[in-house]
Amino acid sequence: MENWGLITFRETAMLYHEDESTSANKMATIAVIAHEITHMWFGNLVTCKWWSDLWLNEAFASYLEYAAVESVETTWNYFDLFLMTDTLSALTADSSATSHSIVRPVREPEERAYTSAIVYNKGASVLRMLEFVMGTTSFQKALTAYIKANEYNVVETVQLWDELEKENTHTQLEFITKKEETITVETDASLNGLLKINTNSEGFYLVNYPEEDWGKWIDALVNDQNSILSDLTVSDRTNFIIDSFYLSRAGLLSYETPLALSEYLKREKHLTPW
Ligand SMILES: [Zn+2]
Repeated sequence: MENWGLITFRETAMLYHEDESTSANKMATIAVIAHEITHMWFGNLVTCKWWSDLWLNEAFASYLEYAAVESVETTWNYFDLFLMTDTLSALTADSSATSHSIVRPVREPEERAYTSAIVYNKGASVLRMLEFVMGTTSFQKALTAYIKANEYNVVETVQLWDELEKENTHTQLEFITKKEETITVETDASLNGLLKINTNSEGFYLVNYPEEDWGKWIDALVNDQNSILSDLTVSDRTNFIIDSFYLSRAGLLSYETPLALSEYLKREKHLTPW
């Protein structure tokens, strides 16, 4: 728990022994320390004005803890775990009837109960998407300006948006806004001419391919055609597994597809797709 200049931890979150603890244990300990220290800026120096904007504290701490861990443990590729630790729980919560928006109306303190997978994990997933769309340099510049403009004060989401807008160079025209719109893209020869949508699973959404294309991806991945597995990132490979299973759960894809796709896992050595 982050207080102004004083962080308190559950004892179990701190217990780590070099010879006896697991590496997952070490990661969890470092992640919680990074999360709480991030709150010194996002939460304490700049505080959400009301419960409705709690994500301004928690989504930032949940997202920036990755950058903090990566800078300390440079060999871990800690960001590769993001889809497993944040996106997956966010998608699960967001596909249930009890889901709510990240910023939501709270009239009385008694109404402040929230789904942490939405406020923390979906919030962090949206910040990750924003960073990828804006580019790391612009995103960091916007966050620095946001902290400077609002230090020792309280904020609402609109104040974050104001700073992001100043650095953002994209317009809505670059995105499809109507169902009937189409875009033309070049396919990448290194991926057997197949088009991977949502590179690195940077966007917080699911992608469904025509059945024929799912078939081609399954063939390519299961047989590792032209070493396609090494041309795809861990997040790309995880993306296929998550999207196909969630689309099947929603009745938009036959379960035969994710099950056939899962056969590629016999070649998969990374934890996240598993
Ligand atoms: Zn927190």
